[in-house]
Amino acid sequence: MKKGDIAEGIIERVEFPNKGILTVDGERLVVKNTIPGQTVRVLVTKRRKGKSEGRVVEVLKKAPQEREEGVCPHFTRCGGCIYQSLPYEEQLNIKEGQIKELLFSVYPEGSFLWQGLKPSPLPDRYRNKMEFSFGDEVKGGDLALGMHRRGSFYDIVTTTDCRIVHQDFCRILEATLTYFQRRNVPFYQKLLHIGYLRHLFVRRAVKTGEILVDLVTTTQTGWMEEVKSEKGESNLTEEELLDGWKEAVCALELEGKLVGVLHTQNDSLADVVQNDRTEVLYGQDYFFEELLGLRFKITPFSFFQTNSAGAEVLYETARSYIGDTKDKVVFDLYSGTGTIAQMLAAVAKQVVGVELVEEAVEAAKENAAGNGLKNCSFIAGDVGKVMDELEEKPDLIMLDPPRDGIHPKALPKIIRFGVERIVYISCKPTSLVRDLVLFKEGGYQMTKACAVDMFPYTGGIETVVLLKQLK
Ligand code: SAH
Repeated sequence: MKKGDIAEGIIERVEFPNKGILTVDGERLVVKNTIPGQTVRVLVTKRRKGKSEGRVVEVLKKAPQEREEGVCPHFTRCGGCIYQSLPYEEQLNIKEGQIKELLFSVYPEGSFLWQGLKPSPLPDRYRNKMEFSFGDEVKGGDLALGMHRRGSFYDIVTTTDCRIVHQDFCRILEATLTYFQRRNVPFYQKLLHIGYLRHLFVRRAVKTGEILVDLVTTTQTGWMEEVKSEKGESNLTEEELLDGWKEAVCALELEGKLVGVLHTQNDSLADVVQNDRTEVLYGQDYFFEELLGLRFKITPFSFFQTNSAGAEVLYETARSYIGDTKDKVVFDLYSGTGTIAQMLAAVAKQVVGVELVEEAVEAAKENAAGNGLKNCSFIAGDVGKVMDELEEKPDLIMLDPPRDGIHPKALPKIIRFGVERIVYISCKPTSLVRDLVLFKEGGYQMTKACAVDMFPYTGGIETVVLLKQLK
């Protein structure tokens, strides 16, 4: 096998998150975004011992479990999902296998209680947030709005039929796209750094149905002279253009309740939703979601679990894992809007949340007050640094770090507290197992673990583990 070769075979298994494994001439080839059992024709794109990679040229035969009908029309062009063609049970089987293999690589099978993968209460239309990008489907094509094309940095697939969000998202997407298409408004070209439309950010609370829409653009308005009003009569100002868009969104018949329409300016070179300045065009710049009987105010730029019903399962699981918290001081590290801290506050002596994003800390404080909780406090700062300054010592620790896991400098500090029980919630099992190696060396045994499928149809998995200090 060498680079440029064409190989054929059956995908044996898929490693987290989307690495299909094909054996060619006795050698392992990683082929991304494939499904176990698929017969594929593959172009070898990289040839290095143990690290060879290939790209699917053609799926010669579907996997036996793949559905023929009812599959999302954007699959497989859209880069959002990888398992749209699989029944939900099959997705769960694949993910459970992946997570077990990763955990067993640190704590051997039988040394802890594996409690399985809990399904998402809503397998379809479960997301409460989507960040759509403006662009074109092919170079020079019509304005598109949706997800990145699978494997592409530039091409955008218009996803008006997306199955993992409520139809309200699709209605807002379609109306926004039509509005700007009719007015020939240019999208921001990442390579050239010119243009206007960047992202459409939609959040819709599952429990309350409240919807917040945010249009992210650059501050470039040089193209405005060419933009005509719908009748083509006169030139529009930026204010008029945005006002017209707001009206179009407000006029939509939605099942949920539109509570805010925002405009955010972002001139950064990176392809991320960043807040340089946000203006409220209609309503307010926050919305409410409810989880486990608590109410949370969510602002556009603070983290909130994207699957609300799944988050309830996740947090219930974490609460049961941490066990008895009565008379205990609990640290909720990487606390976001303080969801976990507030859930624990009702059954603990005191909870201290630590979170980097100040906006999230402010929201957490406000939420705790709104929920009538007096025994939880929140500190804004980097976990690694705050740990050095804290006077208080925890009895128990809850950890929910971002995808990269716990910073190598922060982890020994967490171990040094020597608490009896730590619950680690992880959204990236490969980062989790890297950190587990260090917890193991630091004298912690993983006594039980399970996963929650917060991200049906995609490769994502959320894992919860209980670590106990060996005496
Ligand atoms: N526990 C929360 C948030 C988890 S997401 C929930 O369930 O909703 C991880 C959070 O860690 C994010 O809010 C992110 O802003 C925060 N974060 C990232 N790096 C951090 C650091 N070094 N110190 C503190 N918080 C950090």
